Amino acid sequence: MDHFLYRDGALFAEDVAISEIAAAVGTPFYVYSTATLLRHFKAFDDALEGMDHLVCYAMKANSNQAVLRTLAQAGAGMDVVSAGEYLRAKAAGVPGDKIVFSGVGKTAAEIKLALEGGIRQFNVESEPEMEVLDAVARSLGKVAPITIRVNPDVDAKTHAKIATGKSENKFGIPIARAREVYAMAAGMAGLQVIGIDVHIGSQLTDLAPFEQAYEKVAELTEVLRADGHTIQRLDLGGGLGIPYERSNEAPPLPSDYGAMVQRKLGHLGCEIEIEPGRLIAGNAGLMVSEVIYVKSGEGRDFLILDGAMNDLIRPAMYEAYHDIVPVVEPVAGADQQPYDIVGPVCESGDTFAKQRMMPKLAAGDLVAFRSAGAYGAVMSSEYNSRALIPEVLVKDDQFAVIRPRPTFDEMINRDTIPEWL
Ligand SMILES: *Cc1c(COP(=O)(O)O)cnc(C)c1O
Repeated sequence: MDHFLYRDGALFAEDVAISEIAAAVGTPFYVYSTATLLRHFKAFDDALEGMDHLVCYAMKANSNQAVLRTLAQAGAGMDVVSAGEYLRAKAAGVPGDKIVFSGVGKTAAEIKLALEGGIRQFNVESEPEMEVLDAVARSLGKVAPITIRVNPDVDAKTHAKIATGKSENKFGIPIARAREVYAMAAGMAGLQVIGIDVHIGSQLTDLAPFEQAYEKVAELTEVLRADGHTIQRLDLGGGLGIPYERSNEAPPLPSDYGAMVQRKLGHLGCEIEIEPGRLIAGNAGLMVSEVIYVKSGEGRDFLILDGAMNDLIRPAMYEAYHDIVPVVEPVAGADQQPYDIVGPVCESGDTFAKQRMMPKLAAGDLVAFRSAGAYGAVMSSEYNSRALIPEVLVKDDQFAVIRPRPTFDEMINRDTIPEWL
């Protein structure tokens, strides 16, 4: 559920009309709902009730400072994958002991930054990384708490670009080699082994792959404990999917996921960490765009929008589906017609939807892309020298711009011209 509903024929974000925001900030823009963000965070927090746990929001999904602060104030930890994300989490007020550092390619400089600033744990993904982490920690006179990310070799049954738990993926250590690698870690003075980490992919719409992975983690916990390691924390990753196409998708709820975690892992007495990104932010955001032209082509009509693939790349990159709805509610039973919905960028990939049934629309009408709060603004670019679009946060009847649209001068003046020109 989210807080983007029609009221008296107009789409609202909580108690603010989308058309009011559009008039104030111009299109296109992203808009996020505070109540929806908090609702999703709480759904996970409640789902793990009864187990010692921390929900570490995977901030790569949406790392705006205002979004982070909203979640941090509700008690969320953060899962970060770069120095930039670490510093963003700190700037939003998240203490180091609630920040988990993930990612396959942490540099020595990033490791140093996190060790000096405070960190809950590093999720280590390879032996060479372990060696660097050990060396950096010792050079600072510190001991780095670690889990090791194991690759359980399960098929997450999701889009190839976001599957991470098969043996051919670059992530983690093959679970079959885990004992060897844990033994190596135990021998390193700069490291303190505290647990196991696993993350098998994103946008999973079935619990079965999670269950398979967590069964393997449960077995591994017993094996590693028998080997003498302290396994007190299990980081279970993120990845629970959301319904992008509401008419025919119903992925498992966080409560189902939580019950499964309790069933598979509850007996181990470990502290549980989870790292949801998409499920917290995805349906908490819209991208709102205006129809510039309606163009009649050979046997098809195009809706040409002012938003484009540089603003929301998921359809071009992952063949992703987004529900697209008019901001003025269509009257019940209104005629529909198929449109190809496209942006102005000079690439055929700049197509949001083909032959999508929509009520008849005209230039100047507003449309909203649903489920655009995760992997939307964070993946946007200025391709075609289109300025980054603003982000807006709504809370009840208030709204605020949380990242302004840069001016063209600001965009151009980031470039510098060498002396010789
Ligand atoms: C991307 C990622 C997540 C978040 O995935 P979602 O599908 O957005 O929940 C969590 N943990 C790790 C290690 C990731 O790479």
